[in-house]
Amino acid sequence: MTYSSPTRWVPQRAPVSLPAWQEVPLFSALRRGLACRCPSCGAGKIFQGYLRVFSRCEVCEAPLGQARADDVPPYFTILIVGHLIVPSMLIWERLAAPALWLQGMVWVPLTFLLTLVLLRPIKGATVGVTLKLGLLRPEDAP
Ligand SMILES: [Zn+2]
Repeated sequence: MTYSSPTRWVPQRAPVSLPAWQEVPLFSALRRGLACRCPSCGAGKIFQGYLRVFSRCEVCEAPLGQARADDVPPYFTILIVGHLIVPSMLIWERLAAPALWLQGMVWVPLTFLLTLVLLRPIKGATVGVTLKLGLLRPEDAP
């Protein structure tokens, strides 16, 4: 027999809200981000330009625009490009000692090109990892 009084207060339960976008393992989010695809579904695009992130995934509604990339993509890009360019410069200098103008003609454009090529996938990977870790800024923040 159950007792129920009409005056008894019953807490209202909030509806369980699961994200529409699915959570994936960290490595999958990283890999999909590197491919500039949505870290959650792998089908939608992350970028709507070179580096501008969509506010939401067009396929699964993952809040891509709230993922905080901040200074991480330039940091890792500089780290990687520097570790590729500087040793190559030193090895070439040691082996062939090319003229300074020739080194400038090779290393400056190569550094610029590598930076532009790597920055986008590194930012995608950063968005993937921050989305997976839940490092999201509030929706109304700029
Ligand atoms: Zn998606």
